Amino acid sequence: MTAAERPAYQKYEVAVRKSGINGFGVFAAEPIAAHRKIGEIRGETISVSEARRRASGRQRIMIVEISARKAIDASKSDDPMRFTNHACSPNARLTIRDGRVEFYALRVIPPGEEITVNYGPTHHEGTLKCRCGAANCSGWL
Ligand SMILES: [Zn+2]
Repeated sequence: MTAAERPAYQKYEVAVRKSGINGFGVFAAEPIAAHRKIGEIRGETISVSEARRRASGRQRIMIVEISARKAIDASKSDDPMRFTNHACSPNARLTIRDGRVEFYALRVIPPGEEITVNYGPTHHEGTLKCRCGAANCSGWL
């Protein structure tokens, strides 16, 4: 996808492919500068109770809670950032701002490197094994 084909909120070229961490991941396809916005996830806005209902019993979900009451379900979205994997030493961070789910680089990310964020608390509630491989890996999600 070229810059002209991407939505304006996807700032950098990324590629979705198989990841050593889990399933598919998002990889930088061009150098990403430190602290710059990489992209966003957009999707269906639903209530947190609906989000929890959809998440129950599923291993991999694409739902982000954006407030105490609202969540975004990106299952039907085309945004590549929805494949972002968790890592305990991530190179990016996820920020909720004005109801938007935004990704920012924590440092320079060279082409070919997988983009990761620290999810924080997840619906797995510490029961899913983390395979990020970081020295400080907490072991569980
Ligand atoms: Zn880890």
